[in-house]
Amino acid sequence: MSELESSSKRTFLKGSAAAAAAAIMPRSVYAADTWDVIVVGGGTAGMPTAYFAAMRGLKTLLIDKYHMLGGTLDRSGGQIAAAGTKFQKSLGIVDTPDEHYADILRINKGTGDPALGRLFVDNAAATVDWLFDNGFKAVEGHPVAGSGHEFFLKRRYQWGSKNGVSIYETMQPLIDQAVARGKLQVMLSTGVTELLQGANGAIQGVKTEDASGTRSELRAKSVVLTSGGSASNPVMFQDHHGVPLFAKIAHPMSQGHGLTMGLGVGGYLRGGDKYLCSFGAVLRDRAYPSPIDAGVVLQPHQRMPWEIFVNASGQRFVREDHASVDHREKALLAQPGHRCFVVFDQAILDKAPPLIPGWPREKLMAAFNQHAMFTTAPTLAELGARIMVDIGVFEKSVADYNAAQQTGSDRFGRNHMPLPVAQGPYYAVGVQGFTIKSSAGLAVNPSLQVIRPNGQPIPNLYAAGEVIGGGATSGASFVNGMMVTPALTFGRLLGSKILLRNA
Ligand SMILES: Cc1cc2nc3c(=O)[nH]c(=O)nc-3n(C[C@H](O)[C@H](O)[C@H](O)COP(=O)(O)OP(=O)(O)OC[C@H]3O[C@@H](n4cnc5c(N)ncnc54)[C@H](O)[C@@H]3O)c2cc1C
Repeated sequence: MSELESSSKRTFLKGSAAAAAAAIMPRSVYAADTWDVIVVGGGTAGMPTAYFAAMRGLKTLLIDKYHMLGGTLDRSGGQIAAAGTKFQKSLGIVDTPDEHYADILRINKGTGDPALGRLFVDNAAATVDWLFDNGFKAVEGHPVAGSGHEFFLKRRYQWGSKNGVSIYETMQPLIDQAVARGKLQVMLSTGVTELLQGANGAIQGVKTEDASGTRSELRAKSVVLTSGGSASNPVMFQDHHGVPLFAKIAHPMSQGHGLTMGLGVGGYLRGGDKYLCSFGAVLRDRAYPSPIDAGVVLQPHQRMPWEIFVNASGQRFVREDHASVDHREKALLAQPGHRCFVVFDQAILDKAPPLIPGWPREKLMAAFNQHAMFTTAPTLAELGARIMVDIGVFEKSVADYNAAQQTGSDRFGRNHMPLPVAQGPYYAVGVQGFTIKSSAGLAVNPSLQVIRPNGQPIPNLYAAGEVIGGGATSGASFVNGMMVTPALTFGRLLGSKILLRNA
């Protein structure tokens, strides 16, 4: 038995009947020949890429470094958006790709890649229909116009009861069936380490290394990078975005391998300048990247703010009840360290709805004694000293707000000001702007070919998903579903149409 054969027997799709079938395939099936398609990474984009390529009759190998498929779907919100879906039509919602496109431009001010945006909206409904046709179910009351990010003007946004896992559980049986029917090969616990490039610059395959350290070279007519972003690689993330990776939340395999490999064969990065932070995470500590210990509800559509927000200098910086999520996120992005403190007093604590859903009062009060991001003090000056803001600036910010609360006229235009921040003890919760995705990614053209800085495609090399960067799809704003849905859609398009178009 060759090294390649024995290692492959260990790594093929463990844990399913299809896996057992795949594991006894003769060596020639997966090693000797040239594959039509090798898909590097079997997550959100890689699963549909491989499935559709295989169902089209292309000889397809899906390789993943992790021990199971699905990638970031194990933790993603799985919130997806499309216009003109069968689901919308069943509910009498009239919507079009043109309206979806216009909504995306309204939200991100045209900062995404226009051609990719158009490709996406024109093909998103068929992707979402495919999921629904294969058993995906949206939660009751969907689609909605929005949730945590800027709202759409139409109801075109939905997710399953298990979030990203609902999408994974829809796709995994399809993959299993394709494997069982001998149409698709899947290799797990095997990382792609390098792209094979010919003297003419064309990609000819990949080098791999499995969990036991066995290395192989596999030849292919086309290679698709669907290996995700770099949001679990603090050094690379900061290098690409100029911003620390604050939160530890992405998939452990989001190490940016595909980015490195794409750069190594002549591709280039774009989109790092489109970084934006989400509002609302309480990190465990300031040793970045840090786990997120709590989420505070700072969205006026979910809970009107009773508290004020001050930055690291002690200044208010945004209208806390501004209706636009994007406006508040961009305001936080402009603050030093992308962080702020949510400040309130005893009266607000007693009367306002809970700031942290699911946290009983005792847990919250205990956090003020134990947690690095929760601070309390009998006076404002002491609170300011403890959270290390400029005490004079901080006291003035609170005094100005209290005056505004009295007169009803706030310099930021805030309307919801039920109580002043006036009676100790005082409280502050440190909130960090953070992101869950890479904005920077490999530049691709509308055929999803990885391109060189001169715009020329690198022959036989394609990419989809977060490896092409959130900046390309979502632009400089968080647009609803604008990571998962393009990942699925571009994967479906690559597999069903684009790869080896004339094969
Ligand atoms: C907590 C969280 C919530 C989110 N919620 C949403 C949401 O609701 N809506 C939305 O649109 N977006 C959301 N996102 C973003 C979105 O989920 C991701 O951008 C998307 O799932 C990434 O898909 P992908 O296919 O590019 O990567 P992944 O799904 O991460 O798949 C990449 C795969 O490549 C494999 N891989 C990596 N390196 C190698 C290698 N060298 N060789 C072989 N395999 C490799 C990995 O193991 C993985 O399986 C969320 C992200 C997070 C972290």
